[in-house]
Amino acid sequence: MSRWGRKRIRIIEENCVLCHLCEVACVVAHSNSKDPIKAYKSEGLRFAQRFRLLFAEPVFENPVTFPAICRHCEHPFCVDACVTGALEKTEEGAVVSNLVRCIGCGNCVVACPHGAIRLVELGGRRVALKCDLCQGWEGEEPACVMACPNRALVLEEEGKESLPLEALLATDGGSPESSSPYVIAGGGPAGTAAIRGIREVDEEGRIILITPEHLGCYSKALLAHYLCGEESEEGLIYKAKEFFHRNGVEVLLGRRVVRLDPERKRVVLDDGEEVEFRKFLIATGGKPFVPPMKGLDKEGVFTFTDFEKAKEAREFIEANAKRAVVVGAGFIGMEVAEALSRMGIETTVVEIAPRILIRALDDRGAQIVLDLLKGRQISFRTGDTVEEIMGDGRVKAVRLRSGEVLDCDAVIIAIGVVPNTEVVEGTTIEVG
Ligand SMILES: Cc1cc2nc3c(=O)[nH]c(=O)nc-3n(C[C@H](O)[C@H](O)[C@H](O)COP(=O)(O)OP(=O)(O)OC[C@H]3O[C@@H](n4cnc5c(N)ncnc54)[C@H](O)[C@@H]3O)c2cc1C
Ligand code: SF4
Ligand code: SF4
Repeated sequence: MSRWGRKRIRIIEENCVLCHLCEVACVVAHSNSKDPIKAYKSEGLRFAQRFRLLFAEPVFENPVTFPAICRHCEHPFCVDACVTGALEKTEEGAVVSNLVRCIGCGNCVVACPHGAIRLVELGGRRVALKCDLCQGWEGEEPACVMACPNRALVLEEEGKESLPLEALLATDGGSPESSSPYVIAGGGPAGTAAIRGIREVDEEGRIILITPEHLGCYSKALLAHYLCGEESEEGLIYKAKEFFHRNGVEVLLGRRVVRLDPERKRVVLDDGEEVEFRKFLIATGGKPFVPPMKGLDKEGVFTFTDFEKAKEAREFIEANAKRAVVVGAGFIGMEVAEALSRMGIETTVVEIAPRILIRALDDRGAQIVLDLLKGRQISFRTGDTVEEIMGDGRVKAVRLRSGEVLDCDAVIIAIGVVPNTEVVEGTTIEVG
């Protein structure tokens, strides 16, 4: 939480002379010792300031210099972009990062239009650092504001931003339907980001979130960590009960929307219950794509796009597997292979493309990842695919198109996802 209420740091570029004093003050305020020498020399925080100082060549006469500090936006794109729940907006409006949850993916860095997030190496991990409005600092103002001798940083009441959702949601504000709830199908990042968006323009309207997942709103990006036991079931959850309570959201866990009736403004749930809505958001994400191959029904075959499947895979592999085959060498396949190798499972990745990560990285980048994973005892078969999963009831091996047979006890299919559009099937809504 921020001690400054709704005040924010404003940057006055004309006054900034790039003296770096704000940077030093930021590092010290976030150090354990609160001592500049210890912070820089023994706590390893030399590059751990929570903003960057920018210098641009002169446009007219003078160079432009200023610290790119977080605006703690009303609509923080960074929070919406983070798939692990490492970033959140507190009740007081500060946008803060939880370094324990951060996996250093950099989505937030790309999403922030102000360049206010830095990816840095801290304690052997790459994490996203950003201004947290000096939580835990006991000064009268944030440390950078106090340190700046030129008043290039000032703490003041934030102005009201324009609300992009307002126009959209206000369209039926006064209609008789406005007492009906907003209904959201899906509790992933899209569904939960929508809750925040709705609350910014409508503080009281009823919101119902429906999700078939019993675990609630959890991070899929952490599933591979869960597979190898490095993350707990509870640790996956990134929107806890308090978030829904605070936002007055009714959450229907373990329930699925099976039909949409746009004319009557109702959705039908899997148990036949009908729920009326004012606005309905389809945030149902994707479902695993599974290519045709023989033997898919064998025990020991898993997809890897939701918690239930990851849990089944983990329990089965821990109890039964010494060797596994991962089908697909995209990001998810690579994550799964790496997690399996951490579990001590002899792992082979089969990829139909001529090399791994074909849609994600260039040749050089992919080679770096390949070398890293080969060093972890993971084997690869590229330009090939699984044609048959063999075994009597339970997986024993896979036969590749090339004819090679790989002995294994488990197969994880990680080929990608296709949009989950079942909700609109049978309606006139176009899927594009
Ligand atoms: C293993 C794995 C690792 C990943 N790692 C990363 C990463 O490191 N970085 C990154 O940026 N992205 C990563 N992703 C992708 C990221 O998780 C997705 O982009 C993101 O979850 C999409 O969010 P979403 O809300 O659109 O959909 P989802 O998160 O898929 O959520 C959709 C929700 O809708 C629910 N639903 C489906 N049908 C219905 C229905 N009929 N009624 C009600 N609810 C329904 C689903 O159960 C699900 O809970 C990863 C994905 C996976 C599977
Ligand atoms: S990090 Fe960027 S997007 Fe996120 S709140 Fe700060 S300024 Fe906004
Ligand atoms: S780098 Fe960390 S905080 Fe940023 S989006 Fe990724 S997990 Fe979230």
